[in-house]
Amino acid sequence: MMRHPALRAFFRAPSGWLAAGSLGILAAIALLAPVFLSDAATQGSIMRSGEGPSADYLLGTDNLGRSILARLLVATGLSLVLALAATALAAVLGITLGILVAMAPGRIRTLGLRAIDVTLSFPGILLAIVITAFVGVGPIGAVVAIGIAYVPDFARLSSTLAMSVTSKDFVAAARVLGVPAHRRLLRYILPNIGDSMTVAVFTTTAGALISVSSLSFLGLGVQPPLFDWGRMLAEGIVNFYVTPLAALAPAVMIALAGMALGFFGEALARAMNPLLWSIGDDARASKATGSGEATAAPLKADWKEGSVLSLRDLRVTYPAPGGARMAVVDGVSLDIEAGEIVGVVGESGSGKSQTALAIAQLLASPAEVRSTRHRFLGDDLGRLASEDRRRLLGTRLAMVFQDPMGSLNPTIRIGDQIAEPLRLFGGADREEALKTAVERLREVGIPAPEDRLSAYPHQFSGGMQQRAMIAMGLTNRPALLIADEPTTALDVTIQAQVIDLMRDLNREHSTAILLITHNIGVVASVAQRLIVMYAGRIVEDGPIAAVLGQPHHPYTRLLLAATPELDSDRDTPLGAIEGRPPSPADRPRGCAFAARCPHAILRCHDEDPALRRLGDSRHAACHLAGAPTLSESRV
Ligand code: SF4
Repeated sequence: MMRHPALRAFFRAPSGWLAAGSLGILAAIALLAPVFLSDAATQGSIMRSGEGPSADYLLGTDNLGRSILARLLVATGLSLVLALAATALAAVLGITLGILVAMAPGRIRTLGLRAIDVTLSFPGILLAIVITAFVGVGPIGAVVAIGIAYVPDFARLSSTLAMSVTSKDFVAAARVLGVPAHRRLLRYILPNIGDSMTVAVFTTTAGALISVSSLSFLGLGVQPPLFDWGRMLAEGIVNFYVTPLAALAPAVMIALAGMALGFFGEALARAMNPLLWSIGDDARASKATGSGEATAAPLKADWKEGSVLSLRDLRVTYPAPGGARMAVVDGVSLDIEAGEIVGVVGESGSGKSQTALAIAQLLASPAEVRSTRHRFLGDDLGRLASEDRRRLLGTRLAMVFQDPMGSLNPTIRIGDQIAEPLRLFGGADREEALKTAVERLREVGIPAPEDRLSAYPHQFSGGMQQRAMIAMGLTNRPALLIADEPTTALDVTIQAQVIDLMRDLNREHSTAILLITHNIGVVASVAQRLIVMYAGRIVEDGPIAAVLGQPHHPYTRLLLAATPELDSDRDTPLGAIEGRPPSPADRPRGCAFAARCPHAILRCHDEDPALRRLGDSRHAACHLAGAPTLSESRV
């Protein structure tokens, strides 16, 4: 019984067992064959050349009468060592280069990334052949050539990963605190990209094995009297019609070892991603107890048909200086119906993203989340067993984040990432799940989806990565899609495409969408309802046209005044909201917006306004909402 969840994840799929078993056997052969079979592999009788399989020679003999099987086994060590050495060289140079580029100042970084992209566009094996012209033929030349040819792959992956880490708040804070670059690299960046790079090393070794063998096959790698599988293949192909096994056997070994290394990389990726540990266990537990299908939980008797989410008095707190707790979300109540698109806007720190993460139950300690009701598709999430809760949210709720590259696993192929939830929760086999992945990629507008399945995230553009993220979220046909700033990192054209895509998905599958953004223009183009948040609370809520046409809350008015429109006069400066939102640790008495509000009266500084109903599904938290003085005002 495997106790550690990483080990369980490694061996969860047959590929894990297959990889561990095959690599174990290959390692034993590499160590033992040169000791026991060296003579049989190098000495033969010309009288017995070109023999077929027999009791003496299980795979027959080559044109010099040497045992093909013995040569095949003895060649294992050199073939693997050369592939590993080339990968190690590529990894050291590539990761160093990638991190240096990622940490370089803006212009140099851009130039570095362009240069890496250009070298990536050359086929690796062609690059290696050119390099052998400079470093010379032979095993060392082959290792150097293949090692250098793979440098751009490692450089691109490590620079992408390192840049995503350097943009994180904790690295920025370290920089501000004056932590030197080498220390930031060792303490902050390397530990956060180490697991992904380890996985990449193993998947690249499979490619390096084929490349080194190819160089030997072309006469540029291992030279006689040494021999690896590529050299054996070159020698065997000459007499293919007489002794086909002399060529076929090393070709099969190269393919099998390459597959074993690839499977090992995939299994390692599962083991090194803690998010995948418990999901697999959940799936097995559900199967064992027979609990539920991969589809929706049935609606409950006291649950209004058509409702997706019902949340009351959500409160999210964090520890504050002095031992107290500060509320970043304070008393949010929200209902979402099937097929509804609800936009949530507000400045940074208004509590939008914390509300979304709390709905998806993705907040962990030190956050503390409380609510008087948190029901999703009729189930009370507070009362569900943790396995059932994770299963329900894992299949019926999807999240799309601002940074698609940070949300996609850089070391797993796009197809496998989209197929994963179907295999874990839907019980589909790999072929079935990949077929569905193709459908989902087609639905989100990825061209030639069959060809894209085997691509890695870094081979996609930003817009395609976001589409892939949405495709992944849609795998199990979720009832609710939470999109947190899904277009912020994209250019304007791609933004419009992603918004169109969400609108289509909502129309075709009645998927409810909670769209969180700071961009009112984005919400206006797609949402039916608008929620405005300020200082952790909802301050206005209503049908989008009504709120945009006649906002009741002064904060909504100022937000709208600060939003450019197509017909805005470019010579007239946009309105700006003066001041800053209050700190959650120091929320003022009365209305939290009072210090910035142009309409504040004495009562505002004393009495906290409640969210009041103002007819026709409209609500606002302002003492003056609906009063003539505010209605007539332009801001
Ligand atoms: Fe402004 Fe007073 Fe309304 Fe708050 S309650 S938004 S301070 S008018």
